[in-house]
Amino acid sequence: MPIIHHSAMPTIVNLSLSPKQAADAGSHAALVARMLCIRESDISLLRIVRRSVDARRGRIKVNLSMEVFVDKEPQPAPLHFDYPSVAGGTEVAVVGSGPAGLFAALRLIELGFRPVILERGNDVVERGRDIARIQRNLDINPDSNYAFGEGGAGTFSDGKLFTRSKKRGDCNRALQRLVWHGASPEILYEAHPHIGSDRLPRIIADIRRQIVEAGGEVRFGCRVDGLDIRDGRIRGVVAGGDRIPAAAVVLATGHSAHDIYRMLDGCGVRLEAKAFAMGVRVEHPQELINRIQYHSSDQMEYLPAASYSLVGQFGGRGVYSFCMCPGGFIVPAMTDASQSVVNGMSPSRRNSPFANSGFVTEIRLEDFEYLRPEYGELAGLEFQRRLEEAARANGGERQVAPAQRLTDFVAGRASATLPRSSYVPGLVPSRLDEWMPSLIADRLREAVRTFDRRMHGFMTEEAIAVGVESRTSTPVRIPRDAATLMHPDVEGLFPAGEGAGYAGGIISAAVDGERIAERVAEFVK
Ligand SMILES: Cc1cc2nc3c(=O)[nH]c(=O)nc-3n(C[C@H](O)[C@H](O)[C@H](O)COP(=O)(O)OP(=O)(O)OC[C@H]3O[C@@H](n4cnc5c(N)ncnc54)[C@H](O)[C@@H]3O)c2cc1C
Repeated sequence: MPIIHHSAMPTIVNLSLSPKQAADAGSHAALVARMLCIRESDISLLRIVRRSVDARRGRIKVNLSMEVFVDKEPQPAPLHFDYPSVAGGTEVAVVGSGPAGLFAALRLIELGFRPVILERGNDVVERGRDIARIQRNLDINPDSNYAFGEGGAGTFSDGKLFTRSKKRGDCNRALQRLVWHGASPEILYEAHPHIGSDRLPRIIADIRRQIVEAGGEVRFGCRVDGLDIRDGRIRGVVAGGDRIPAAAVVLATGHSAHDIYRMLDGCGVRLEAKAFAMGVRVEHPQELINRIQYHSSDQMEYLPAASYSLVGQFGGRGVYSFCMCPGGFIVPAMTDASQSVVNGMSPSRRNSPFANSGFVTEIRLEDFEYLRPEYGELAGLEFQRRLEEAARANGGERQVAPAQRLTDFVAGRASATLPRSSYVPGLVPSRLDEWMPSLIADRLREAVRTFDRRMHGFMTEEAIAVGVESRTSTPVRIPRDAATLMHPDVEGLFPAGEGAGYAGGIISAAVDGERIAERVAEFVK
C-alpha cells in the first residue's frame, strides 16, 4: 500500500513495488498521478530520493521514495559547485591525492587558497597501465599500484559510498560533489550507492581538471620523504631533496604509506599505535549469494547483484565482513613484491560471476605488545608486515596468492584443488588455517560456522579464503588536536583521512578532507 506524505512542498510518495515495476521508470508518473488523484500532465518533476531493496520474508520489494512537484511549484535548484580562481593565492601543500587530499584541495579552493597536490604515483591513465602489469604478474611499481597513485586507494575499487558516519549533511555534500564531477545522480538516492572501477577514474580526472583550471597544481611522481619543521612549525615538505615551501601541510597519505609513518617517527613527530583489523578475502559464486539473499530466482534480471553484511563476537572479539564487492573481482593490492595483500573491486554493473568480501577480526594493542619494545608505536605496522610477508612466502610466484576452500579452512585440512576464482594473477592451495596467527584463523573459522547458520550455504566447497586482507584500517594514528585538527606538536601540520586514523572509506575520507581544509583556512588567514 503506497504511503503519501503531504508536506509544505514537494509531496513525498512512498511506493513499494515489485522489482519489475520499479525498473519500469516510465510507468511511475502514471502510478503516482493515480495515487494523488491528479493528471499525469500536472506533474512537472518526479524524482527518486531513496531506493532500497527489501528481501526479507522471501518477498522481494523495491521501496521507492519520490518527490512530486506539480505545475508551478518551484523546483529544486540544479546542483552547482563553484571553484573561483586561486592563482596567486596562499599555497597549501596537500600530500596525497586520495579522497581526503582531493576533497581538501577542492574545499581550499572554495575558501580562496591555492592547493599544491604532491602525489607519489602516476595519473589515473598511466596508473591503469601500472595496475594491468600487476594483474599480468609483471613487476609492481612501488609508487603506482592499487593503493598509490592519482585518486588514492579507492580509485580502482567497488566505489561503495556508504558510511557509518552520522553526519548526513557532510556525506550528502560529498556525494553531490562527486555528481558534479561526473558520477551518476543515482548515488544521491540509492540506499547503498556505489560507482564502480570503470567510472571512478573519469571522475578523478575531472576533479583534477577543475583543480588545475582554478589555478591549483598537481605534481605526479612526487614522493614526499621529509618535512621542513622549524621552531615547532611546519614550513613545507621535502621531496627527492627539493624543499617545497607551504603555509600549511595537509598530510593525506593513506594507510599503505608505511614510509611516511617511519619518516614521522624518525623526525620525532608523535604517533600512536592503534587497534586495527586483519583477515582474509572470501569469494563465493555470485549466483549462490543471490539465491541465499533473495530466496528465489524470480525477477532476478531487475535486481542488483545481492550483497551481505555479517558481524559477530567470537572469543570476545569482533569478526565482520568488510568492503563487500558483489559481482566483483579480488585484486592484488600489495605495494611491493615482498607482500601478498588482497582487496576487492567491482565494475559499475557488478556483473562478474563472483561475490567477494573482506572477512576480518580485530587486532588489539595487546596482540602486538611483544613487538613494542623493539618497534614502539610502529609495532602494529610490524605485525601487519609479518602477516603480509607470510602470505607471500605461502603464495606462488609473484602475485599468485595463497588460498584455501572455506570448508577446508574451517575443518583444518589442505585443499587438493581450488574452484574457479576472479583473482587474475592466480591462486595456489595453502594451509591458511595453519600459518595465519591462531588469534585470527581460529576466530574466523568459528565465525564462518556461525554465519553459515545465518546465511545457509555460506560455508560451501565453492567458496574460498584468499590471503591476506590486511589493509582495512591503519595500525598507527597520527594524533591531532580536537579543536584545531593540527598535530599537537607541529603547528601547521594537518594529518587527514584514513592514514591518519580519522576515516575508513571513500566518503569518510572525503568528508575529513573538507573539514581539514576549513581548519587550515582558520590557521593560515
Ligand atoms: C582495492 C580497494 C578497494 C576499495 N574499495 C572501497 C570501496 O568500495 N568503498 C570505500 O569506501 N572504500 C574502499 N576502499 C578504501 C578506500 O579506498 C580508502 O578508505 C580511501 O581511499 C582513503 O582515502 P585517503 O585519501 O585517506 O587515502 P588514500 O586513498 O590511501 O590516498 C593516499 C594517497 O597518498 C599518496 N601518497 C602516499 N604516500 C605519499 C608520499 N610519501 N608522497 C606523496 N603522495 C603519497 C598515495 O599515492 C595516495 O594517492 C578500497 C581500497 C582498496 C585498496
